[in-house]
Amino acid sequence: MENNEKNISNFIRDIIDVDLEKGKNGGRVHTRFPPEPNGYLHIGHAKSICLNFGLARDYKGLCNLRFDDTNPEKEEVEYVESIKEDVKWLGFDWETRLYFASDYFEKLYDLAVKLIQKEKAYVCDLAADETREYRGTLTEPGKNSPFRSRTVDENMDLFRRMREGEFPDGMRVLRAKIDMAHPIIVMRDPVLYRIRRATHHRTGDKWCIYPMYDFTHCISDSIEGITHSICTLEFENNRSVYDWLLDELGVHHPQQIEFARLNLSHTLLSKRKLLQLVNEKHVSGWDDPRMPTISGFRRRGYTPSAIRTFCERIGVAKMNSVIDLVVLENCIREELNKTALRVMAVLDPLKVVITNYPEGKEEEMDAVNNPEDPRAGSRKVPFSREIYIERDDFMEDPPKKYFRLFPGAEVRLRYAYFITCTEVVKNSSGEIIEVRCTYDPLTRGGDSPSGRKVKGTIHWVSAKHAVTAPVRLYDNLFVKRDPNETDDGKDFLSNLNTGSLLTAEGAKLEPSLSGAKGGTRYQFERLGYFLADTKDSKAGSPVFNRIVSLRDTWGKIEKSGK
Ligand code: ATP
Ligand code: MG
Repeated sequence: MENNEKNISNFIRDIIDVDLEKGKNGGRVHTRFPPEPNGYLHIGHAKSICLNFGLARDYKGLCNLRFDDTNPEKEEVEYVESIKEDVKWLGFDWETRLYFASDYFEKLYDLAVKLIQKEKAYVCDLAADETREYRGTLTEPGKNSPFRSRTVDENMDLFRRMREGEFPDGMRVLRAKIDMAHPIIVMRDPVLYRIRRATHHRTGDKWCIYPMYDFTHCISDSIEGITHSICTLEFENNRSVYDWLLDELGVHHPQQIEFARLNLSHTLLSKRKLLQLVNEKHVSGWDDPRMPTISGFRRRGYTPSAIRTFCERIGVAKMNSVIDLVVLENCIREELNKTALRVMAVLDPLKVVITNYPEGKEEEMDAVNNPEDPRAGSRKVPFSREIYIERDDFMEDPPKKYFRLFPGAEVRLRYAYFITCTEVVKNSSGEIIEVRCTYDPLTRGGDSPSGRKVKGTIHWVSAKHAVTAPVRLYDNLFVKRDPNETDDGKDFLSNLNTGSLLTAEGAKLEPSLSGAKGGTRYQFERLGYFLADTKDSKAGSPVFNRIVSLRDTWGKIEKSGK
């Protein structure tokens, strides 16, 4: 697979270039993507995936997929499977290099023993609150634990018994012996192992002690021969522990490099909060098309290549920032503009009767499938005396500069004829239920031979040929640019957009869409890009999702936001 946005340089590439020049790591580049299987992947993870697998691709190196599965209570096989599917769907391949930190538990245990023997780790019996108290603060150094001076023999014995299950959960931990006065707090004797009786999705009940992230991560990188261990900025302080441990153990030592995580406007990228949305049923699941998950984007109709283009375009930096959602939407618009077939669909139908068009007559109009792609050809669209147009393409009493249909006005029906409005029909409550028009038979195809001009062109669907189908109109899940910005006492849920899913139940579609296969993307002319939903479409009765509108609608949302 090609890099869509060729060779955009960044500080990580600069570091690798220097390393290669110096012959570091024997000229190898080996990265990894290390998700914790405690939720589905989101667009932030896509950035990390594109970065890690992208570097491997561009430097002819390798990239591993490694599950960081050291937290059995929160981790599940379902998440492992979804993550593998999402990485593949994004277009990346770990080949034979699928790893699990849990495969290294035995090795990790041995290395913990090695640290104890070097007097660089000890078993500590402080309770959690005491541990916190002894740790000190940003301005005050910590104090040594009273258990810090245990002998090697005592530590060896206690650690073995921790493993054998002699002590209750939480009673003891294994800690690194570093420096309780260290200016970086995570260096103040970080915990390496804790006792936790929990069934692990791969190792079952074999273990009742589990290694902590800081201990597991650097050793897993080392075992796999990783050269550049790329992570997000919040791990900057943890780099000190990463380096200390690998130096003390004297094993292969990858270089940790931090970059700024992706933040997107109107979007939450915290697995904990996304899990809450799923558990509390604010959305239909992890793959709800409004979710910023990879599975949600896939269901919505985004393409892997548009997501990759986005990840490349936003680049990699050292400073945190918020990217506007419009940047992502524009990547999908750009791609679908080139590839999506154009069709006509009316979401909010208003009937138009063309009074001088013969009853029973039908014609086939030639419609272009994609003006951006001549090879896409054309199709026939049936036309008849009764058609549907969008309700908001007609106004009885229009403002100035309204160029669509109103009494007395002439507009072009795309690919068909010029029509002029002659009459408005209302029901007893005054609602417009039908509009009557006349057509000019000389304007077939949508052009006047006499050169007469009309300002408005609207789309339409022949009433008797129309396919009726539900069309789901998705909008942002959150109304605020920063969903975490809330009034006092409220949480992010108060920013949920109540209009994030509106369904046009009775949308009228041109008949070519009756056979739309789940997964096919279209441009509904003048409306946006739509996907025939993969789960809910049945043969002959498709269901559509709006992928993205033709232009961004931010202004509208911010205003109606509160
Ligand atoms: P969360 O904080 O939402 O639980 P996480 O970072 O703990 O996410 P992991 O499964 O540990 O989730 O993430 C796997 C990799 O993806 C890590 O290397 C992490 O740095 C990276 N990552 C996670 N979120 C983002 C983001 N928003 N932007 C870029 N990379 C990210
Ligand atoms: Mg994490």
